[in-house]
Amino acid sequence: MKKLAAPLIMLAIFETVAITLWLALDNIFYLFNFTYIGICIALGLFLYSVHFRYARLVVQLGVGLYMLLYLGFIDGENMQIEGFWFYLFSGVFEAATIHYAVAKIFGPLIFGRGWCGYACWTAMILDLLPFKQPSAPRKRIGWIRYVTFAVSLIFVAALFLLQIPNTAGIIFWAFIIGNILYYVFGIILAIAFKDNRAFCKYLCPVTVFLKPMSYFSLMRIKCNDEKCVSCGKCRKVCPMNVDMTDNSRKRANGTECILCLKCVDSCPQKALKL
Ligand code: SF4
Ligand code: SF4
Ligand code: SF4
Repeated sequence: MKKLAAPLIMLAIFETVAITLWLALDNIFYLFNFTYIGICIALGLFLYSVHFRYARLVVQLGVGLYMLLYLGFIDGENMQIEGFWFYLFSGVFEAATIHYAVAKIFGPLIFGRGWCGYACWTAMILDLLPFKQPSAPRKRIGWIRYVTFAVSLIFVAALFLLQIPNTAGIIFWAFIIGNILYYVFGIILAIAFKDNRAFCKYLCPVTVFLKPMSYFSLMRIKCNDEKCVSCGKCRKVCPMNVDMTDNSRKRANGTECILCLKCVDSCPQKALKL
């Protein structure tokens, strides 16, 4: 029963969001959408609790493929950052804007960058590459994310200011081309830096939202100083170079934590927990 507690709590949270949005917006899509995502996450938590090695991958594929293939390609909803700007400027509070509000802007106040660890369809592929732990220190090129963020904003603003026709069609193609570029640059960077998550660390524009909000995250890795023997095993396995042994909010790369729990699993002292 203990193993079911966390999955059921998570399912209840998502079901609350699903029912609230369904009733508030009178659209049954939100009931199916958030129920499905909640089930995927609850299943992943349960698989993790029974020590299934690929628990996180199950969630990544379940949520990531659903959003990329069904919502993106079949339903024509641009869930990339350009889609968010586009629907926001259009005054449409629908799937992409709600997705950003829940997963990437306000949700991180509760679950930090859980999106990056369990649901992102870009990272779903990058995490399959062989460079799971970075072998070199971080580069000081994180400023590039502000450039990609600005480019996405300027691109969509230009569509409105220049009154370009067929913006909906352009935004759909921007989704396809944007995803291809994300995968191509993500894989090139991973190979160049021998780090699967290099794209997340330096290029991804969404981190401009994710990082400041996740600074205040309710859910975060905590270290029991009395149990910790400073062996450093946790830091070696962290894909995001987080210093999780420092409990302060200002811990090194604290806003990069994707809650993958690799550090928790690696600690011989069981000093780390979520
Ligand atoms: S940083 Fe960007 S690409 Fe990486 S997992 Fe998060 S949203 Fe996806
Ligand atoms: S290894 Fe630990 S600190 Fe690093 S990203 Fe995963 S959960 Fe966060
Ligand atoms: S692995 Fe555990 S004991 Fe070792 S440094 Fe990390 S928290 Fe401390």
